[in-house]
Amino acid sequence: MRSAWNDREAAELVERYAAEGVGEDLALRVYTTRLLGSEPRLVLHGGGNTSVKSRARDVTGTELDVLYVKGSGWDMGTIEPPGLPAVQLDPLLALAGIDALSDEDMVNLQRRNLLDSKAPNPSVETLLHAWVPRTFIDHTHANAALALTDQPHGEEICREVYSDRAAIVPYIMPGFDLAKAAKAAADAHPRAEGLVLLKHGLFTFGDTAQEAYELMIEFVSLAEARIERGRRTVFAAAAAPGAVASASEIAPAIRGMLAIRREGDGAEVERFILEHRVSPAILAYVGGDELSRYSQVGTVTPDHAIRTKPLPVVLPAPPAGDLTAWTGRARAAVDAYGEAYTTYFERHNPRYGGMKRMLDPSPRVVLVPGVGLFASGRDARAAAAAADLAETTVDVITDAESMDRFESIAESELFDIEYWSLEQAKLAGAREKTLARHVVVVTGGAGAIGRATAAAFRTVGAEVAFFDLPGPALDDAAAAEAGLAVPCDVTDDASVARAFDIVAARFGGVDILVSNAGAAWRAPMADVTDDVLRESFELNFFAHQRVTRVAVRMMRAQGTGGCLLFNVSKQAVNPGPDFGPYGLPKAATLGLVRQYAIEHGWEGIRSNGVNADRIRSGVLTEEMISARSEARGVSEDAYMRGNLLGREVRADDVARAFISLALARATTGAILTVDGGNVAAALR
Ligand code: ZN
Repeated sequence: MRSAWNDREAAELVERYAAEGVGEDLALRVYTTRLLGSEPRLVLHGGGNTSVKSRARDVTGTELDVLYVKGSGWDMGTIEPPGLPAVQLDPLLALAGIDALSDEDMVNLQRRNLLDSKAPNPSVETLLHAWVPRTFIDHTHANAALALTDQPHGEEICREVYSDRAAIVPYIMPGFDLAKAAKAAADAHPRAEGLVLLKHGLFTFGDTAQEAYELMIEFVSLAEARIERGRRTVFAAAAAPGAVASASEIAPAIRGMLAIRREGDGAEVERFILEHRVSPAILAYVGGDELSRYSQVGTVTPDHAIRTKPLPVVLPAPPAGDLTAWTGRARAAVDAYGEAYTTYFERHNPRYGGMKRMLDPSPRVVLVPGVGLFASGRDARAAAAAADLAETTVDVITDAESMDRFESIAESELFDIEYWSLEQAKLAGAREKTLARHVVVVTGGAGAIGRATAAAFRTVGAEVAFFDLPGPALDDAAAAEAGLAVPCDVTDDASVARAFDIVAARFGGVDILVSNAGAAWRAPMADVTDDVLRESFELNFFAHQRVTRVAVRMMRAQGTGGCLLFNVSKQAVNPGPDFGPYGLPKAATLGLVRQYAIEHGWEGIRSNGVNADRIRSGVLTEEMISARSEARGVSEDAYMRGNLLGREVRADDVARAFISLALARATTGAILTVDGGNVAAALR
């Protein structure tokens, strides 16, 4: 691993922060913290922290010794000075004299000594940073260090690699006890340049930010060199599974297996968002004939357990073709995982007087020979984070197995981390939004109604895929709402299939389809050509059927119900002159809404539509609006407000109607009008 230190960049940051009143030592602390945080082989999703001991003034002008230490909730790769809150050092040093301290008391004491009462909680490793008497301290969960320590002779190997340059600390859960052990090790080796925390990570010390950082890079490089020297072939491949199904084919079924069906009226489902990952390293790992051994040992560093659970589930390789038998075996594996998880909880909860509350028993990482890995989370971000940790796990275990055998901490220690009260409090966090954990596909996603609808679904917590023809409009729409841009021509079968494959690999499946793409064709029926009529039917009827058919297959594979939403049109029930080529296929689409409602209600798939009227930039072009207002002898504005409420209907109104229908758990086969009130278009 190479140092990314750059004198010019460092100086620039010092200068920039000086203008804001930030001292040089904190500015450089920010700089190297970012360098560490930008390297995923060193730090991932909260797995690391840094500190610097300095002086600061309080409001009375009194100068105090402080520890600037990483605060929770900040990403090291993008940290700013407020992400390293100042804690008064003396009260922290005084704690070294007591024998025991609970996590809650420790957090309280740290908070109480913050110079800024609104600052984030200092890291749980704050006391360790405080008690080691060095100015700059860096801590990472470097992959290479984990690969060395996560094996039976890890300690011996580390002594050989680092000799007396690093003191070795046995595995202890982060907190007061670990800080004590680290202090003892550092005190016993006053010339040590760092610490190796077995099965956890590395610490390095320095008088300057550059020294501590470059020492970390050197320590990691030494570990990498040792791994290369000891490497032998790993992972004899299991019997080749032959042709396997694709990730997209099996993702919806896996997503359905992972979902928690709450007891009650059967409609309460706790879904997960899935993300698929594959690479040559992952395929070698999941294809190894000892996968069921090395994947079932534990995490590579303890804090992974919070996001990935201690163990992944291993599924059989899915054969290409008929997946019925595979689905049954895979479901049995997931069920067995859930049972084993429950007994694991019951084995360890008594140590806490039975006071812990069991988390859901659904695996967060799914290993599939021939296909790769899937990670799950309550949203796409959490799934991606779990996927990153799972990929790191593959790398570290591969390296440990290339030297000897992978070893983790004990099951009871994994439980202590997974059910750590501080972490549980963090994860419990904010209440989930109404459509969190749901995946929504919006066709015509780049148009006015599509964009408004997608934005509305994002606001209530759903993950959204924008389907539309490729181009800047699609990319802009998806980027603006942090959704997934999926190029799709809804009039083409292959394009639709590919688009849903992308959604399945990225999110695991689909829960809500908003079939919105459409366009208006105008002509009197006596004059319209069959070609034009067919073209309109292709987009305004067959495209709805084409995307719905694929979405319903995916929903059935998930087995967790679903919601189909169609943008029909007032034209379907209250046709206007010259709009036959548009109204006729929309009338057929209205029939489609009801047909799906009838055929899939039994499996919890609801089907509803919205009849909107007179939306600017919907199917009505400015030219059509002016033609119609002229024909009626009113202004364009009066035409747009020509309804019972006298209000212009906007794309947002249509979006809200889709959201209402998505939430209406007892409504199917219904059409909601969004037209400002139009008695002639009322349904009965
Ligand atoms: Zn750590």
